[in-house]
Amino acid sequence: MYIEAVGSSGSKNTDCKLVCMKLGNRVLIDAGSAALIPDDELDLVDVVLLTHAHLDHILDLGFILDSMVSRRTRPLVVMGSEACLGIVKKHYMNGLLWPDFSKIRVNSKPILEYRVIADEVWTDLPGDVECMSVPVNHPAGARGFLFRSNGKTIVYSGDTGPTEKLWKIAREYGEPSAVIIEVSFPNSKRHIAMASDHLCPALADDELSKLDYKNADTYVFHMKPWFAEKIIKELDLLNRTVTLLKPGKRIEFI
Ligand SMILES: [Zn+2]
Ligand SMILES: [Zn+2]
Repeated sequence: MYIEAVGSSGSKNTDCKLVCMKLGNRVLIDAGSAALIPDDELDLVDVVLLTHAHLDHILDLGFILDSMVSRRTRPLVVMGSEACLGIVKKHYMNGLLWPDFSKIRVNSKPILEYRVIADEVWTDLPGDVECMSVPVNHPAGARGFLFRSNGKTIVYSGDTGPTEKLWKIAREYGEPSAVIIEVSFPNSKRHIAMASDHLCPALADDELSKLDYKNADTYVFHMKPWFAEKIIKELDLLNRTVTLLKPGKRIEFI
């Protein structure tokens, strides 16, 4: 089992791909740039697990559903918190901005099925992986996740400002295989990071200190592309090794 970045950017600019990760070949985490995935790979996907309903995480959901209608015979299950799914239903797939694919049936089944994921319990996902959804400090029904496969965990912050519960719960499961954390702004924009419930390198460093781990690789994603150079320099100055999670990078549960 693995997590592989399709897109890892927190906004759209030249050459930037919005947040979307493959969790094995049957689950996507977010769908910001999901339309970049080839059709034969998309056809294997059963579940899109949303961290929250902000546009950079859901943009391509409508477009992959649009492309699937003509060739798919089973529903695509979209999972997320109740608040997140409510926003997607009301403001995106509402029959106005984009079709309501939950009402479009193929072989008497809807092409889209919404499923709320419960918080703080392990939920089985397709492909021999479990997920624990944990509320984080960010709007739009935001959740961070623990993923577990083969007895190993990966911690995934999603979008968040400074938060507690995700790290507290993650500590209970020991040394993770990897930690994937958002960093959106440089330290000079800490006030904007705080106001928008995001992190800068210094804040991310504080968050990572809340998780007692030693050897796991730490990956950073969700940079605002216009601040990338500055953020990378500041990450280099931290007293810990962090790697940018670039599209195509695969992280194994080991
Ligand atoms: Zn975002
Ligand atoms: Zn967000």
